[in-house]
Amino acid sequence: MSRIKRALITGSTSGIGLAIAHQLAVAGTDVVLHGLESQQEGDKLATSFHSQHGVEAIYVQADISDPDNIAAMMSQIATQVGPVTILVNNAGIQHTAPLEDFPPQKWDQILAVNLSAAFHTTRLAIPAMQAQGWGRIINISSVHGLVASVHKSAYCAAKHGLIGMTKVTALELATKGITANCICPGWTDTPLLVEQFKAYAQDNNTSYEEAKQGLIKAKALTRISYRQLI
Ligand code: NAD
Repeated sequence: MSRIKRALITGSTSGIGLAIAHQLAVAGTDVVLHGLESQQEGDKLATSFHSQHGVEAIYVQADISDPDNIAAMMSQIATQVGPVTILVNNAGIQHTAPLEDFPPQKWDQILAVNLSAAFHTTRLAIPAMQAQGWGRIINISSVHGLVASVHKSAYCAAKHGLIGMTKVTALELATKGITANCICPGWTDTPLLVEQFKAYAQDNNTSYEEAKQGLIKAKALTRISYRQLI
């Protein structure tokens, strides 16, 4: 029996998710693109994937901070094109603030999108992967799944949690032909960082472009002094 290779990449309308979707399509994988953009915008993107890479591509719009939307999205995909057998949990959001000022609703939202959504997509994708005895689960965590930074309590909690969940997923599915892995990217110039670059530019009275360099250098220096401390 030939393997079905159909990838859902959450949050694939921009940044890292979009790049992953392109690379999977280059490798000949059918893709399900996903994000918050309108159906019309997403359909245009899917059409461009089909013409550029010759693979089957569709777009699904769903706010994955709500588990009901995730369930609806997974069954929509199964009905429209068939089950997902490669799952890339990539969608993520950020908010930075000192712990005592961190808005509770931002905490809930970050945990929902960056961690709980991956639990829901994974649990709903497993049965089809098990049925064909093959599947791939790739979770996009972050260096902040391994180390901390100030003002990123929710993001660090979610990204650390995602690594823990990936380890459990890998153990539970190891004998079923399904692998689970986590990727921990460092700074990548995507829309996710815009607010942090803007805040740095304002705090340091510098241009947006200089802020990009400054923030990345500051982070590298923090890591060096942190290493010297331990
Ligand atoms: P991005 O802002 O370019 O893309 C985020 C994607 O998630 C978009 O497609 C957006 O539509 C989607 N999304 C956000 N909230 C959503 C919601 N409620 N429902 C559905 N979709 C939603 O960001 P990116 O930098 O490409 O980030 C991708 C992943 O990589 C995230 O998990 C992020 O935490 C992680 N990451 C990014 C960096 C970085 O420096 N950019 C570093 C480490 C890890």
